[in-house]
Amino acid sequence: MTSPAADWQQAVIARIEQRTSRMRSYFLRAPLARHIAGQHVDVRLTAPDGYQARRSYSIASAPGAEELELAIELLDDGEVSGYFHDIAQPGDTIDMRGPLGGHFVWDAAQAGPLLLVAGGSGVVPLVSIARAWAAAGGPVPALLLHSARQWDGLAFRDALFAIDTAHAGFTYATTVTRGAAPHGYTRRLDKAMLDDLLAQWGHMPALCYVCGANGFVEAAAQLLVAAGVAPRAVRTERYGGT
Ligand SMILES: Cc1cc2nc3c(=O)[nH]c(=O)nc-3n(C[C@H](O)[C@H](O)[C@H](O)COP(=O)(O)OP(=O)(O)OC[C@H]3O[C@@H](n4cnc5c(N)ncnc54)[C@H](O)[C@@H]3O)c2cc1C
Repeated sequence: MTSPAADWQQAVIARIEQRTSRMRSYFLRAPLARHIAGQHVDVRLTAPDGYQARRSYSIASAPGAEELELAIELLDDGEVSGYFHDIAQPGDTIDMRGPLGGHFVWDAAQAGPLLLVAGGSGVVPLVSIARAWAAAGGPVPALLLHSARQWDGLAFRDALFAIDTAHAGFTYATTVTRGAAPHGYTRRLDKAMLDDLLAQWGHMPALCYVCGANGFVEAAAQLLVAAGVAPRAVRTERYGGT
């Protein structure tokens, strides 16, 4: 039995996996309705004195997966991310509601070619979209560009390389803004990089999903529109920060 997305439910942490030095995946058993790739949940923590903190977290798992996967990056002085990294353990119960979000969602009926652009932890909903895309048999050409500070900060790198290897229609591209990388670009996303990527890919995107901190999303969306993508074809999800 599932309840409406607005109702708070109790989810149990089944297991925890380290993704990068600052990001962990939390696999939950949650009595929520099946999500659409790109959606998120709200999490609520309650202190013994009744103080509550609520945050949103994207769903990384594919629709229909047995466990709901959230991937949470530890922020300096982060109240809720700090709780997840320092205190949460398998077996713990978390208040959660969802799935939520009706605009930043993808299913196999959407137009292609499909361009996914992530900054840092903004890769999480795009991993769900990439997994849903693979489960649907790769219905349209798809390219995912992930920008992170360091090579080791490219969360889900192995999973995305695996989709790239298994599906001719999927391209996984990376850029790191600090330090070296064995593949991909080593600078911030800019016009020359986008032009180069689109030329190598050989497609003009009909639909783009951009996710990350506010500044990254703003800059990437502007570059896409300047490259000739219609503004209405650019869907964005902003995580906050600068
Ligand atoms: C729809 C949606 C989906 C999200 N999905 C994810 C997800 O899948 N994984 C994930 O790790 N986060 C995700 N976030 C961000 C998440 O909701 C929290 O904002 C984040 O975990 C910080 O919360 P906190 O309590 O740890 O930090 P806070 O105590 O709120 O803030 C600590 C410090 O970090 C700064 N800060 C807050 N948010 C950010 C940010 N995004 N980037 C940089 N600095 C920031 C604050 O200004 C403050 O200085 C999502 C946000 C939205 C709106």
